[in-house]
Amino acid sequence: MKQFQFTYQNPNQFQKELIKLRQWQKTRVTSYMIFQIFSESLDREVIGNICNMIEKELPDALYMGASTNGNILEGSVETNITVICTVTEYPSTCMEMVQMPLNAENAVEIVQKLSTIVSERPWVKGIEMLVTIRGMSMTGFCNELGKLPPEIQIFGGGAFSSDMDNEACVFSKDGEYSTSSVVFLLIGGEDMHLTTMHVTGWKPLGKKFIVTKAEGSILYELDGKPAYDAYYKYLNIGNDEHFFSNTLEFPFFYEHNGLNILRAPIASNEDGSLTMTSNMDENVVARIAYGDPRTILEKIRQSGQQIREFQPDMIRVYSCAARRTFWGMDEISKETLPFQSIAPTSGFYTSGEFLRTDGFVNQHNVTLVVAGIREGEPVFAESPEFEMHQEQFSGKVSMINRLATFIEAATEELEQANQKLEFMAVSDGLTKLYNRREIERRIKERLNECTKHPERPLCLIMLDIDNFKQVNDTYGHKEGDNVIVGLSDLFRQGKENYQTHSSAGRWGGEEFMILMEHPLEETVTLAEQIRQDFENIEFKNNVGHRTVSVGVTAFIPGEDSDALCIRVDKALYQAKTSGKNKVVVL
Ligand code: GH3
Ligand code: MG
Ligand code: MG
Repeated sequence: MKQFQFTYQNPNQFQKELIKLRQWQKTRVTSYMIFQIFSESLDREVIGNICNMIEKELPDALYMGASTNGNILEGSVETNITVICTVTEYPSTCMEMVQMPLNAENAVEIVQKLSTIVSERPWVKGIEMLVTIRGMSMTGFCNELGKLPPEIQIFGGGAFSSDMDNEACVFSKDGEYSTSSVVFLLIGGEDMHLTTMHVTGWKPLGKKFIVTKAEGSILYELDGKPAYDAYYKYLNIGNDEHFFSNTLEFPFFYEHNGLNILRAPIASNEDGSLTMTSNMDENVVARIAYGDPRTILEKIRQSGQQIREFQPDMIRVYSCAARRTFWGMDEISKETLPFQSIAPTSGFYTSGEFLRTDGFVNQHNVTLVVAGIREGEPVFAESPEFEMHQEQFSGKVSMINRLATFIEAATEELEQANQKLEFMAVSDGLTKLYNRREIERRIKERLNECTKHPERPLCLIMLDIDNFKQVNDTYGHKEGDNVIVGLSDLFRQGKENYQTHSSAGRWGGEEFMILMEHPLEETVTLAEQIRQDFENIEFKNNVGHRTVSVGVTAFIPGEDSDALCIRVDKALYQAKTSGKNKVVVL
């Protein structure tokens, strides 16, 4: 496989390039020649001329293209129209191009047509696609693509235009310049090999939101509030015509199909909902994400190492337009140029990146989709080095990094402080068991559940250390504390040892209550076990062996928690008055 990359300057220069290619091809054995034309300009006439000239000078060549937000030529950003000519050399290699009209209504149907085409061509190993997104949800389209045979790699990019809604176009030898189409390039054959991966490097920032309401690609609510509020409150992004470009660098980070996906809104609506490019799931955790230059480049390095071992003949990159905005023109090539050290690297800045991972086809945002393509077996004993320089960050990028680090650290501290507070609010300081308020709340909660579902068991165990005053009086308060902790440790061990569904709390002084979600018989067994285990502990400093009295009872449907607690207290009282160190069931 060979590749020639150049920019389109004018018809004369382009014709010369085509003639050169024709002459070069005459002297070689080649199987396919394919042109990929990426154009930031939407000039229909120029694009039409390019296609016509290819048809005229190289009538057998395939061609396909898309409008872009800038191109990647030999690993670097390129604003001129970029022409990539790939020539395959193996006779086994097969390629075919299919262009189909695409809209919100026919998305599933056209993928079904593609599926029929693919099923008749068992050689297909990969599908590269260029697609116009036009503000529609791509979920149906992606889900249907996911049904293609799992071994087929699928990757591609969404055509871009600065006017999001209308003008983005794709075109190919199989169809005309179109603002609502998809072009599929089927690639395969025995000696064709593909590998794909995606890189983001964007990191979740700050607070976690729960998606409380979403329908299709409309994200209505986060944490019960209009989704737009999150962008306004935390990023001061207004609900106006700049919303799309302002939020691009701050997509949502959430898990979908087992992957961490970045999802950027394409529009904010009057009711405060957000329109996304694909469907959002309800009840998932979403966080706003930001680009962290160091993480991004580290991820690039990792994927570079991976693709290096594959030894591709060429690398295709579909990178999100937001990444270009994020880095700016001077720095954007930092994340693509290193790939050029492995193989000729080309692609464009997209309005959405597509990749199949673990069977699922996902539409990504703010992501770099990388595909490596090779004909034949790897030729080098040692893969070429992935060359990447240690980067120094300056200006805007360095500032973002520091502020984001600050926010992350502050958020983490806050989250930890909150967790600690939450823990303190429900737990007892000495024993770390639940405090009385929490264990009472749990008893009531469980009692309500059991009233609705009488088949669910509920029992209580109440314990009081015997002659405890004497420990305090003889050995001091500290030794008394040790005995209390010794008993509470048994509850924790009991929970692990017997795999019980239980909650233990400190009821007062040296009294404890255990809420058991088990039938009475099992509860009595555990109570007896705790009693014996406690008796067997030898406390230090002459405190020696101590004992505990235990009351056990089961919930009687219809009673309230007071009645239940009074009965277990009575059982405990009976244990005390009938000689202590025993379990009484009432
Ligand atoms: P009985 O067998 O009848 O339960 O006798 P007892 O000595 O255990 O009697 P009582 O329940 O009256 O004694 C409880 C004592 O526990 C009284 C109190 O000073 C002590 N106590 C309460 N909380 C703590 C604590 O956190 N640490 C220590 N060391 N002692 C405590
Ligand atoms: Mg006592
Ligand atoms: Mg007591």
